[in-house]
Amino acid sequence: MSTLYIVATPIGNLKDITLRALHIFEEVDLILCEDTRVTKKLLSRYNIKTPTQSYHQHSKLKKINYILNLLKQSKSLALVSDSGTPGISDPGNKLINHLAKSLPDLKIVPIPGPNAAVTAASISGFPMNKFVFMGFPPHKKGRQKFFKEVAESKYPVIIYESPYRILKTLKELGQKEIVVGRELTKKFETIYRDKAEEIIKQIKPKGEFVIVINKP
Ligand code: SAM
Repeated sequence: MSTLYIVATPIGNLKDITLRALHIFEEVDLILCEDTRVTKKLLSRYNIKTPTQSYHQHSKLKKINYILNLLKQSKSLALVSDSGTPGISDPGNKLINHLAKSLPDLKIVPIPGPNAAVTAASISGFPMNKFVFMGFPPHKKGRQKFFKEVAESKYPVIIYESPYRILKTLKELGQKEIVVGRELTKKFETIYRDKAEEIIKQIKPKGEFVIVINKP
């Protein structure tokens, strides 16, 4: 029976790869990557020479069918995204859904590891026994509704944000008590804990951001 491994990779620090992930990368016939150039940096660091191919959010049905055929030929595959856990604000879900329906005997095996949302949750100090993950705020359409939902949530909310919109989003969050994780696990990792309106005054809008918003 063929196997598809869904493998989490580091969110910055390449040492955060798991031993099991490295083992799987060495064992599989092919690694499906969101961007092969990004994944090759990780693979070359660990001297892994397994072939790679791209699978991303714009991949067409033709590519999915190609992957399906490899699995029918009993090839084993690993799926990775550029960073963190595939399928979480990243490509993967569409492929997994299609393959699970088309090949009921396919083994889909999770290889857990880093995830930016959970990493930020772990250092927030907020009551995270229940929380809501809402991904990226919409840029225009649905933005107001998104922040209304954040404001009305009974539980802490985790969102992702890019350097281009971090200031705009912090402005929306105003007086909310938040923790912002910037460039987590990387050289310029910075963690801000304050009201959003205070963080705006100090934050460097560069890099990758996760925001954890405390419940009111
Ligand atoms: N699948 C990934 C995961 O498991 O976290 C998330 C992918 S999503 C396309 C990328 C976003 O995650 C970034 O824009 C940022 O909001 C957040 N992110 C990823 N790495 C991060 C890091 N090292 N520090 C802070 N935020 C990060």
